[in-house]
Amino acid sequence: MTKYIIEPAPQASLPIRGSDTRFPVRRVYCVGRNYAAHTIEMGGDPDREEPFFFQKNPDNLLSDGADFPYPDKSADVHHEIEMIVALKKGGYNIPLESALDCVWGYGVALDMTRRDLQGECKKAGRPWEIGKAFDHSAPASELVPVSESGHPSQGAIWLKVNSEIRQQGDLNQMIWKVPEMIAYLSSLFALAPGDVILSGTPSGVGPVERGDLLEGHIDGVGDLKCKVV
Ligand code: MN
Repeated sequence: MTKYIIEPAPQASLPIRGSDTRFPVRRVYCVGRNYAAHTIEMGGDPDREEPFFFQKNPDNLLSDGADFPYPDKSADVHHEIEMIVALKKGGYNIPLESALDCVWGYGVALDMTRRDLQGECKKAGRPWEIGKAFDHSAPASELVPVSESGHPSQGAIWLKVNSEIRQQGDLNQMIWKVPEMIAYLSSLFALAPGDVILSGTPSGVGPVERGDLLEGHIDGVGDLKCKVV
């Protein structure tokens, strides 16, 4: 038994629908600009740029119906509704054909973003962490195993704020499909069981305020409810 000089951090994890076991999270990868309409609304050109990756921290995940605390140092916090891809298997240079074998299940998440700080980082050519990887920045639903969801490649993905539709898209609009995300990511990092990927957001991102109720949905995957406090 290893002895630690201070108490080790608790294992980050996500709940599983209909089960009292949890999914232990190792890393959180996020795909940027994976829907053309969102690339355009962010001022980009989907014909000229590929999606890309950044990371959040596992302990940024917010689960089990917890409220999202509006973070400090920002006056422009945005919602981004995304699908979670949870991996049970990893590897380096995973071939496209076997990439889906790595997937344990799927879920719904919000890639909450301090847009004003992210904007400053972009302008200065600095990393995005302060805009993206802040505490509680990734509210997440229960995960559902592939045995129940299959591998969803089409179907509605939407987000309502206070019952009003703000974001709406279809999984079939993703530029990088799930196998492509896994194969590409595994060429840069050795993936491992417990890694999760937030697969990018459709268009319609916008600011939230304290008191807002965020309700996300992905056909065949599930629902996410989160209050901004
Ligand atoms: Mn995002």
